Amino acid sequence: MFCSKCGKEAPENAAFCASCGAGLMGGQPVRKTKWSTAAGIIDIAAGGFSLVTLLFMTVFLFIMAGSDEVPPFLALIPLVMLIPGVLAIVGGIFALRRRSWVMALIGSIALIVTSSIPGVAALVLTVMARDEFE
Ligand SMILES: [Zn+2]
Repeated sequence: MFCSKCGKEAPENAAFCASCGAGLMGGQPVRKTKWSTAAGIIDIAAGGFSLVTLLFMTVFLFIMAGSDEVPPFLALIPLVMLIPGVLAIVGGIFALRRRSWVMALIGSIALIVTSSIPGVAALVLTVMARDEFE
C-alpha cells in the first residue's frame, strides 16, 4: 500500500506511514503526546482525590456545624476549595485531549491550590507539553 499523504510505499497492515507519520487507517498523523498525557493523568487523579477528600470534609463540617463547637462558616472553606479541584479535572481532560493549552495550564495551577506537589509536577509537564497542543 501507499501513503495517501506523502505517496511513499508502506508495509501492508502498517498503522502509520514510516516516512511522514500519517495514519494509514484514516487516522491523524502521529504526534508526541507523552507530556500532556502525564499532566492530564496527574490533574485528574490528584484533582479527583482532593475533590473526594474535600467533599467528605464539607459533609463532616456541615454535620459538626450543628453543634456548638464548630461555626457554620468553617464548612464553607472545603466547599470553596472544590472549585480548584473541579478546574484541575477539567484542565486534565483538556490536557489528555490536547485541545486547549491555556485550560490545561489553568487546571495545573488550580491543582497546586488543592495539592501542591502533584500540582507543581502537572504544571511543569503542561509547560513541557506546549508543542503537543492544537
Ligand atoms: Zn507518508
